[in-house]
Amino acid sequence: MKGINFNINDCVRVHLNEEGFKILKEYFNGDKSIIETYNSGNNYYKFQLWELMNIFGKYLYNGAVKLPFDTNIIICLPEENKEQKKVKCKKSPDGEHDYIMSSDSFDSPYCRYCYKGS
Ligand SMILES: [Zn+2]
Repeated sequence: MKGINFNINDCVRVHLNEEGFKILKEYFNGDKSIIETYNSGNNYYKFQLWELMNIFGKYLYNGAVKLPFDTNIIICLPEENKEQKKVKCKKSPDGEHDYIMSSDSFDSPYCRYCYKGS
């Protein structure tokens, strides 16, 4: 199969516009310290692809008038992705997610540092 092999855990840079930044701020409940960890300079923000999909997915649809970022995005190079993999959880002290179960046994485990309740 022809194509580029790209893992959704690898990172991309997107040029957020005002709307996109608003969405990002809402997603992290206005927590500037965590938002800053995504800042890549010049209004570019770096995400693992799955994070980008998770945060902005519902704003991306056919005919969307206000897109959160430019449709041209930058795919990070493999060496940068190696660095990225060292830090899995941006909020935990050691960079690792710490999964716990919620009191509701039907819930799946979630990270006590970076999980954002609904
Ligand atoms: Zn975490």
